[in-house]
Amino acid sequence: MNKYDLHSHTICSDGSLSVFQLIDLAVEKELTHLAITDHDTVKAHLQLASLEPHNKADKINIIKGVEFSSQWNNMGIHILGLNIDINCTAITQAVRHQTDIRLARLTSIAKKLTKRGFADITQGALALAGDSQIGRPHMAQYMVQEGMVSSVSQAFNKYLGAGKIGDVSSVWPDMEQVVEWIHAAGGVAVVAHPSRYKMTRTKRRRLMADFADTGGQAIEVCSGNQVPGVAQDMAALCQEFGFYASAGSDFHNPNYQWVKLGQYPKIPKQCKPVWELF
Ligand code: AMP
Ligand code: MN
Ligand code: MN
Ligand code: MN
Repeated sequence: MNKYDLHSHTICSDGSLSVFQLIDLAVEKELTHLAITDHDTVKAHLQLASLEPHNKADKINIIKGVEFSSQWNNMGIHILGLNIDINCTAITQAVRHQTDIRLARLTSIAKKLTKRGFADITQGALALAGDSQIGRPHMAQYMVQEGMVSSVSQAFNKYLGAGKIGDVSSVWPDMEQVVEWIHAAGGVAVVAHPSRYKMTRTKRRRLMADFADTGGQAIEVCSGNQVPGVAQDMAALCQEFGFYASAGSDFHNPNYQWVKLGQYPKIPKQCKPVWELF
């Protein structure tokens, strides 16, 4: 069983559990280290710090993290920041910046949808997001609720997913900028799920080279729901570019059968684990 899970989400972005429920689950799964890496927010960590010390938080090491949305060559690339100082100016400003972008993106997606004849989803999606960082999953959920589509996956497949009108990656800051924020916060920058981006091998190696040039130190070699063989491919990239290896489930919801907290393929032996840098 894996003891580390360095990629997980709470309800503060598009996960389903509160930070406390997530930690309970991690303790139940006998994890020793859990990185909470919500999309463009560190609210879960702020909640953890401001409320009563959670009774289980001393049984597990909680690693402060974030998953920033960035763009590289017009593609949306997710960069994890692990072991960051959540209270530093760089993170506060970065989160504010990303929040503004997410709100503007909602407006622009809603506008594109109204041009297709749909009612304005802005307020409904915001209401569903509540205090959480607004994301496409909330937009999808609202579209289902209003009968615009029959399911969340249909909302993504037809309107919000890769290559569709709701897929606007040009809004995000450059990858380089995001890595800079993470480094300013004392963290380690990690390319999240590098195999999931639809690109050729050549392009993926260019992404790796550019990431290395920005000072990025690690890539996610193992992710939840990863097909066999990918970890070895990612391990080869680590060796070529001198990256450390990260591993995490990308857990969102206990009802998703295909991604369980703490579950991901074995890290190839030749890899240097990213936690050596913490
Ligand atoms: P955002 O960060 O707002 O662009 O939303 C991206 C999130 O949407 C991802 O992290 C996933 O949680 C979710 N997502 C992306 N594609 C799909 C899909 N095809 N079906 C369901 N959820 C998806
Ligand atoms: Mn997500
Ligand atoms: Mn991601
Ligand atoms: Mn994620």
